[in-house]
Amino acid sequence: MRPTGKLHLGNYVGALQNWVKLQDTHECFFFIADWHALTTDYDDTSRIAGNTLEVVLDFVSAGLDPERCTMFVQSHVLEHAELHVLFSMITPLGWLERVPSYKDQQLQMPNKDLHMYGFLGYPLLQAADILLYRANFVPVGEDQVAHVELTREVARRFNHFYSLRGKPVFPEPESLLTPTPKLLGTDKRKMSKSYGNTILLSDDAATIEKKIKDSVTDRPKLTDKGSPDRCPVGNLHQIFSDPARLEYITRGCTAAGITCVECKSLAVESVNAHLEPFRQRRRHLADHPEQLGQIIQAGARKATRVAEETMSMAREAVGLLAITAVGKVAAEQSIRPALLRAPESISKAKNENEQWELRAGLWLEKVSKSHPLKKDRQRTFITRRGRKVGVHTAAEAGGVWKFRLQDRPVNVLALIAQDKDRYLHDYILPPKVVQEHWKQFERSGEQVEITIKQGEHGAALVLNGSETPIREYEGNYAALE
Ligand code: SF4
Repeated sequence: MRPTGKLHLGNYVGALQNWVKLQDTHECFFFIADWHALTTDYDDTSRIAGNTLEVVLDFVSAGLDPERCTMFVQSHVLEHAELHVLFSMITPLGWLERVPSYKDQQLQMPNKDLHMYGFLGYPLLQAADILLYRANFVPVGEDQVAHVELTREVARRFNHFYSLRGKPVFPEPESLLTPTPKLLGTDKRKMSKSYGNTILLSDDAATIEKKIKDSVTDRPKLTDKGSPDRCPVGNLHQIFSDPARLEYITRGCTAAGITCVECKSLAVESVNAHLEPFRQRRRHLADHPEQLGQIIQAGARKATRVAEETMSMAREAVGLLAITAVGKVAAEQSIRPALLRAPESISKAKNENEQWELRAGLWLEKVSKSHPLKKDRQRTFITRRGRKVGVHTAAEAGGVWKFRLQDRPVNVLALIAQDKDRYLHDYILPPKVVQEHWKQFERSGEQVEITIKQGEHGAALVLNGSETPIREYEGNYAALE
């Protein structure tokens, strides 16, 4: 819930009342969405901190129990922002632009400049809020179903790009639609802070009495018949009165058998009886601010434990370097040793054969330690698994290497490219690539010519005028198995 002020009865019957029940049947995470408040109230943040505390007070006073659920402030769990960043990398703009509330809210707030990334991206932050806890269900009203659907799409897309040892990281959560009773504001319009027609959860008994007694009703005259469905006071009875009282006022209202004055007095009783325990819990917490602090800190710790677990899965799936995995990754990287360098004497080599001996000799000596290669015929070797590897070398000439070789079938091509500083770059093309491109290489009789060019994005094979990147095959020793 956004911290836009004290919660009213509309918030209570629309969500909070249901959450109080859910905490006994599900593992629940409830939070105050202070970052979300910034998406529309970025230019006046003076009340965010105070409103956040008010909402925590309302949560606890309405019956959310920090022992039975996880209740926290969004900005206290930084992983929400981190997951939002990861999602923002893979979410097409069109998905966000078509969320119905994106245009609706701009229309509803014509005086507010909402052309901000934060506003466009807030459904993605919501997706992060949900998926961070790998939630299976999200309790929402009809108007939020589109957001849950977007969350499902984001989870699906993330799982499509990244997985954790072949398993998806995120579940696709479902909307948990719960019927929400209608509750009109005191002026008969929808109860809303912006209309000034609310009854607050934190209002004292006298204020509630005054607000109900001043409410507009459905019976302008005593003799008119009315309907509790169309009356704010009737709505209050439907939510807060016991069945006998509800039946009494429904009969009296529809038959003009009771006065609105009596009906309102009974509604005051019912609402105040329901809210009195709320007021007691609120008073207690307000008198013990240290307990409020403990609740908020404990909630942040509980949420962070789960959030951090999810993020370490997400980071690993994406392939980011975990701070705890530096040693492991460095060890893995070391299977690809530093670049070899041809000796200076290579410039004095008498012919291309001697140059090959110097370059390929160095390379074979290094590679054979981890991937033994058996000599086959000239410039061809056999791997442990019987793959034929053609080993060829060339020196750079104007950013281009030309490898000339006999047209003989091989499974793997090791192209050792000496740069102008004499460093040897080894591009090891696996069987799939060799097979795919073998016929496209230039040839003249028994001679095949393979050209590598150093482009903007690394080395590329030149094939009929087009370029196929091969940077990923540099040091690709897996192909030598
Ligand atoms: Fe509303 Fe009660 Fe009057 Fe009917 S009798 S119109 S429910 S106040």
